[in-house]
Amino acid sequence: MDKAVRVRFAPSPTGALHIGGVRTALYNFLFAKRHGGQMVLRIEDTDQKRWVAGAEEYIKEALDWAGIQVDEGPEQGGEYGPYRQSDRKEHYQRYAQQLVDEGKAYYAFDTAEELSAMRERLTAAKVSNLTYNAITRVQMRNSLTLSPEEVKALIEEGTPYVIRLKVPRKEEIRLNDMVRDWVVVHSSAIDDKVLIKADGMPTYHLANVVDDYLMKITHVIRGEEWLPSAPLHVLLYKFLGWEEQMPHFAHLPLLLKPDGNGKLSKRDGDKHGFPVFPIQGEFPDKEGNRELFNGFREAGYLPDAFTNFLAFLGWNPGTEEEIFDMQKLIDSFSIDRVSKAGAKFDITKANWYNQQYLKNRSNDGLAAHLSEILEDKALTMGPGQLEKVCALMKERVTFPIEIWSKGQYFFEAPSDYDKKVVKKKWTEEAVMVLDSLKEKLKNEKELTAESAKSTLDIALEEKGVGLGKVMQAIRLAITGVGGGPDLMEIMSIIGPEKLVQRIQQAIDTLPLKQTQ
Ligand code: GLU
Repeated sequence: MDKAVRVRFAPSPTGALHIGGVRTALYNFLFAKRHGGQMVLRIEDTDQKRWVAGAEEYIKEALDWAGIQVDEGPEQGGEYGPYRQSDRKEHYQRYAQQLVDEGKAYYAFDTAEELSAMRERLTAAKVSNLTYNAITRVQMRNSLTLSPEEVKALIEEGTPYVIRLKVPRKEEIRLNDMVRDWVVVHSSAIDDKVLIKADGMPTYHLANVVDDYLMKITHVIRGEEWLPSAPLHVLLYKFLGWEEQMPHFAHLPLLLKPDGNGKLSKRDGDKHGFPVFPIQGEFPDKEGNRELFNGFREAGYLPDAFTNFLAFLGWNPGTEEEIFDMQKLIDSFSIDRVSKAGAKFDITKANWYNQQYLKNRSNDGLAAHLSEILEDKALTMGPGQLEKVCALMKERVTFPIEIWSKGQYFFEAPSDYDKKVVKKKWTEEAVMVLDSLKEKLKNEKELTAESAKSTLDIALEEKGVGLGKVMQAIRLAITGVGGGPDLMEIMSIIGPEKLVQRIQQAIDTLPLKQTQ
């Protein structure tokens, strides 16, 4: 890279950040860190009508949770601030004025009625392109058709106006996208976009380009939905005399529905029961009703599993390797390996990643996480015991909460027993062995997996029964279910006193298998 890399993530605070947005932020972050550069967070809030309270905080919290660190932004500050567009208004007006003065933009005074009359005229003339452009602008009320005196008078009278870009009629606009290679668009396909609205606020296009320039952004990495705007941005760079400083562009592929049919939406999440937002939130929907939605965080995904999963939606390292923590992602990321094709969202893959990361999580870390869940349920466990439960269970679950839900027997005596196992395995022999085991356990104060095993062996030997025949019944008496991690480990965690009570409870309540 010839210049110090500076990238930006530029969300509009209009509601929750969809995971597609988080992926854009992640790729920006990975790219910046890979090249020793800076990551800027810029809040694009020029569209006041779509501004939503709490959205900016949501974005920050989501990025924090996902481990995407911002170097400069509204919170961090930095030498290129302010980082909220609503605080930068004067910049945009200055550059729009420069364009007007140089004849590259113009004032347009057309009212809504005049604009719709234009569209009607064009429709009647069977023109399919109903836009304000090089052809239609000559028939409208703007500073190109009115005299300088008229324009001055209109402005002085306070007549509302917008500033439009004077897009050339015939010009080829070329753009070398890092993902898509050359994109060539003819200027006749672009309308005379509004740069400054009647309320004095800039539109997205102007504000975005001016800020990328002033913030010395070297690479614009953003979603594919912005690709149609890119030629217009290229034109703006040229008109403003900033061609030399124009950033490189990379437009990222779409995130697709699980079946690949169209863009992934919130509705897909509702339909299939998976989150499409990083963290839980509550924001107004299109009709203004508040809507609560689930997040990956609340659904029990670990942040590192989430970012690994997300990084692979549209990028791959070119090898078979799949487990990449953040540092490894930083070390391996390159835009060259971002695909052009949309990436299908696959929640089973997200679950697989979660399993992998859960397995590798330290027992202490997991225990700390789990103790919060247990506190809510008013359950406690001796020191060190919870770590043992985590060690035994973490390979068998996808989400931390399942350590509790699938391993409830570690914490409470079973209130229910697997009926199938009862029917098949609760035999006289089993009860005999369990009865003997129970008596032996009464003499124990503590159990290790080894001492549990030798106590059981003695009981089996005494009754002349092989372990294989009664193993499941013993497990059933202690846990209520027929499967799980090593039973001796389970016994050592539950401890002799509670085991005695559980065995007694099973003997007292379970019906013996019928023998014909
Ligand atoms: N404010 C735009 C958005 O919400 C930013 C697009 C861009 O990165 O240029 O996605």
